[in-house]
Amino acid sequence: MMRTGNAGTLRGEDAGAAVMLAGWVAARRDHGGVVFFDLRDGSGIVQVVADPEVVGEAVHRIGREWVLRIEGSVRARPDGTVNPELPTGEVEVAAAALEVLNESEPPPFPLTERGDDVDEVLRLRHRYLDLRRPSMQANLRVRAAVNQALRRSMSEQDFVEVETPMLIASTPEGARDFVVPSRLSPGEFYALPQSPQLFKQLLMVGGLERYFQIARCLRDEDLRADRQFEFMQYDAEMSFADAEDVMAVVGEAVGAAIEAVTGARPGPVSRMTWHEAMERFGSDKPDVRFGMELVDLGEVFAQTGFRAFQAPAVKGICVPGEGEASRSTVDALVERAKSLGAAGLVWMRVREVEGTPVLESPVVKFLSEAEQTALIAALGAAPGDLVLIVAGERRVANHVLGVLRLDLGRPPVNEGGLQLLWVVDFPLFEAIAPDGRPVPAHHPFTMPHPDDLAMLDEGGDLLAVRSQAYDLVCNGWELGSGSVRIHAPALQQRIFALLGIGAEEAQARFGFLLDAFRFGAPPHAGFAFGIDRLVALLAGEENIREVIAFPKTQSGADPLTGAPGPIDPGQLAELGLAIRARGTPPRR
Ligand code: ASP
Repeated sequence: MMRTGNAGTLRGEDAGAAVMLAGWVAARRDHGGVVFFDLRDGSGIVQVVADPEVVGEAVHRIGREWVLRIEGSVRARPDGTVNPELPTGEVEVAAAALEVLNESEPPPFPLTERGDDVDEVLRLRHRYLDLRRPSMQANLRVRAAVNQALRRSMSEQDFVEVETPMLIASTPEGARDFVVPSRLSPGEFYALPQSPQLFKQLLMVGGLERYFQIARCLRDEDLRADRQFEFMQYDAEMSFADAEDVMAVVGEAVGAAIEAVTGARPGPVSRMTWHEAMERFGSDKPDVRFGMELVDLGEVFAQTGFRAFQAPAVKGICVPGEGEASRSTVDALVERAKSLGAAGLVWMRVREVEGTPVLESPVVKFLSEAEQTALIAALGAAPGDLVLIVAGERRVANHVLGVLRLDLGRPPVNEGGLQLLWVVDFPLFEAIAPDGRPVPAHHPFTMPHPDDLAMLDEGGDLLAVRSQAYDLVCNGWELGSGSVRIHAPALQQRIFALLGIGAEEAQARFGFLLDAFRFGAPPHAGFAFGIDRLVALLAGEENIREVIAFPKTQSGADPLTGAPGPIDPGQLAELGLAIRARGTPPRR
């Protein structure tokens, strides 16, 4: 037997127990007499006291991250040396025997609680060391708890876990594919799945009725704090179900996952239409943990003589306590607004004169008394606040103020609890392209809202057509999305035609799904959300790399394995590939 138990679980009541422990030297204090070690294993840390006269003089050689096995007894720490910060802080282990299981070179960076001040490339190159840090250990355990709770919840809800393939034809999520060259068919390629979307729909045609999977998805997109090339997705699909059924199942599973980590079940997920989210928060993934909502000032300025406010939309936000922001701060906000697409940004300081709030700004002279009073009332502005107004196209005003609201008010990721929100009634199309074609907001299998079908006809207002798509949002992060799918071939053809996907192209890209739909496809709907994002929110991390064991850097590299890298000429030849020198034209 190597050990009797774990270091991190010893407590005051264990005093007197004989123990055998094994782990790493997290820290050592050697003043020439007895040597103190912090011994770390997967459960945490305990202090070990080693007397060279008992365990041998070689103890002075032992360095950080050496691997030790210790036999000894637990004892209460002497008065005044109890460490209330440490779960094991009431006790220490007096070593009777000590065995070096392995030596270690000094680690290239300290493995203390947080690694924030360590260069991330260095951390990732030695991820096996970085993982020994308590916060990484905790984060991966949160992740495992989430995965386990999701699996349990979905099984309890009668869903069948089915794995779908990694080497496939292209999927329609709209991102760039990663491709894999085929050796057996030189010149041909597989795509790696952007999601299991088409396969889960095939499973519905296949009669599975309730499918789920914790699926790896790959999308060749620029990396960000909340985005990696490969990510894990909770993926589900249901037959004979509508949006409400799906939202109920997902809400239950996410609730179970949150409870598994926090110990408390969140309340019911609140609900907001896409339209309301855009109007009140200027975002389809609103962070509802704080106010500073966008206010429509159209009525206030309906008759205004101020040219800048004679626009399709005038909207404003009130930033509490920022009224005395410096001129350079305010100028920077104006520049930010312009870079986001606004023609300009009107700002006003709210000051107090004779007990009432008044506005101060170079533009106030263009506004009537009544407009000023109504503006203060509409925004609920108080002395000390800063008012920001954007006039112009409604979409632009909402977007610009939505971003400024986040810039100026967003709380840290671990504040305000987890505020889950369903955003429903997304538009089917997000824009009209220069060629007159609508741009789909989701994949092309998304079912339009039944009340809006007539608007798909010639001359209809396509941008007003709602879809039966829904997003799950948490603290301003889009956790995931889903929709009711089109299962009727005629409607699918119509959507493809609107999108400019001809019959031939549709057959080439999704022919196998369309073929399947000719054989009695049940009505079905589904959903998927990013597990990395949920875990990051639960672990209080701003960056999903902190909750992934082996992530890529922002530039898509893996400093640990050296990927991506060249492959040898033999492999290339076998695949029928040749690498063109940079700058040379392709061979015809
Ligand atoms: N396949 C979609 C996605 O990965 C989710 C869904 O519609 O189920 O975003």
